[in-house]
Amino acid sequence: MRSAFWHDERLVVVEDIPALVCAACGERFYDDATVIALDLLRGRGFPPESARAELRVGVFSLDDLKKG
Ligand SMILES: [Zn+2]
Repeated sequence: MRSAFWHDERLVVVEDIPALVCAACGERFYDDATVIALDLLRGRGFPPESARAELRVGVFSLDDLKKG
């Protein structure tokens, strides 16, 4: 699966995350190896030069909706 994480003020996306699904409640979770790999990537500061792609991300506010 693919997931987005905040790293300081940067939003980063990580792909190819193996997710396990709880048989009881259907909630997704990561196994220990995946958590360690994500921590490693975080520890390296999600180096931009290692990113496989760049995304432009729209930023929305519910406050703007209220203004009509
Ligand atoms: Zn569960």
